[in-house]
Amino acid sequence: GTAQIGVTGLAVMGRNLARNFARNGFTVAIHNRSYAKTASLVDDHGDEGTFVPSESVADFVASLERPRKVVIMVKAGAPTDAVIDELVPYLEEGDIVVDAGNAHFPDTIRRENALREKGLHFVGSGVSGGEEGALLGPSIMPGGTAKSYESLGPILEKISATVDGVPCCTYVGPDGAGHFVKMVHNGIEYADMQLIAEAYDLLKQGLGASAAEIGQIFAEWNTGDLESFLIEITADVLQHVDAETGAAFVDIVLDQAEQKGTGRWTVQNGLDLGVPITGIAEATFARALSGSVPQRKAAVGTLQAHAEPWDVTDRDAFIEDVRLALYASKVVAYSQGFDQIAAASEQFGWNIDRGAMARIWRGGCIIRARFLNRITEAYERDAQLPLLLADEYFTGAVGNGVQAWRRIVAGAALHGVPTPAFSSSLAYYDGVRAERLPAALIQAQRDFFGAHTYRRTDRDGTFHTEWSLDRSEQPA
Ligand code: NDP
Repeated sequence: GTAQIGVTGLAVMGRNLARNFARNGFTVAIHNRSYAKTASLVDDHGDEGTFVPSESVADFVASLERPRKVVIMVKAGAPTDAVIDELVPYLEEGDIVVDAGNAHFPDTIRRENALREKGLHFVGSGVSGGEEGALLGPSIMPGGTAKSYESLGPILEKISATVDGVPCCTYVGPDGAGHFVKMVHNGIEYADMQLIAEAYDLLKQGLGASAAEIGQIFAEWNTGDLESFLIEITADVLQHVDAETGAAFVDIVLDQAEQKGTGRWTVQNGLDLGVPITGIAEATFARALSGSVPQRKAAVGTLQAHAEPWDVTDRDAFIEDVRLALYASKVVAYSQGFDQIAAASEQFGWNIDRGAMARIWRGGCIIRARFLNRITEAYERDAQLPLLLADEYFTGAVGNGVQAWRRIVAGAALHGVPTPAFSSSLAYYDGVRAERLPAALIQAQRDFFGAHTYRRTDRDGTFHTEWSLDRSEQPA
């Protein structure tokens, strides 16, 4: 075989990824379960580079130079297993199978184990950036063996996005680390989107501003610290007019947010690891609330507000408050996401470099943003940083906005504007910085009803109080 890399699964993502490889000068073997997609790729884009199409898996594998590198880009779950099962009999020791779909990381750990026993490298790789990213340069998060990255890495780095000449692709860590990091990326994306949506709602309700006016505010914000892909597209979306009705586009879209599951996985894992990823959790639940149709139907016009509409007088000051609150809440959400990566890295022995993750998210992916540079710098100052929020840059950047943040969250509560992500992020901020938490009372309660014991502030050891006897404090 002569092809340097193969792609199987040629729907939107696989097709664009294959074109990206070809446009970068690689000879690309292509295959799809049904041949029509393979044929149409050659018909439509055959002139972009060198494609080697195959109808059968056997021919596809045979068309690759060794060690073979096969990228699977099919529907996550059972289809991925089906494709792996079909490929494996044709592969030989040292070959590399890359799953670039959105797999759940426990599946990746399982698959990596199974293929390792056969002498094959299995690389679960996160790929972010949607269709356009796949074609023009995504952010790529490959896991699997470090050995596989030696030959695979340079190819992936060539087709990834670059920022300041640095590729948005790096080796993440063994087995499921790549897909894990992609999962957290998506969770952070949920939080970021929810925070932006809350900021929009605050501006709408506080100022009575139109979608187009708010779009202009976002466009302005995109020239400062908040500069990011999501803020940029928000400005575009808000200024878009529905062709049919002439109404602001956002006003004619049904307000029920859907999800494909990566936010849910992130939250479930946060619970498993005991990491408070409240921003991501609130964002995921906010989507669920929006889709709770019978509940909303029962509540609209029924639940009392006892709140006056928000009638902001100092427009510019309010906009600046919302901006500062958005930035602070965003830093909290990212800080929590990086805590989750650290906890998983510890639990699974992945040794993930968090600064490098921020670096490869600067371009190509959905959460690409200017401030990711700040995160990389923070981890460069201290690779073991226990709390991103406590880095010297972020203590200042967030600290400057704390009063604005409090005004916005308090105002939202007073005027009945739902801001679950803004509010929970502020609660997290106040919780994590509190010298003393009411968790002491929780421990006392647990000891009272369940003899669960407690530790003391004044001496070492574990204690239990004889609540039902003489209420004396005893070493447990
Ligand atoms: P889809 O998820 O819609 O999957 C369609 C592809 O899967 C087709 O090539 C189809 O083949 C193949 N397929 C489905 N079932 C099987 C099976 N049992 N055996 C063999 N092949 C099968 O394609 P997308 O391009 O949207 O996404 C591909 C992957 O990339 C997914 O895992 C997705 O989660 C992930 N992803 C998607 C992003 C996006 O923006 N869309 C972004 C990042 C990741 P056939 O043509 O024969 O039906």
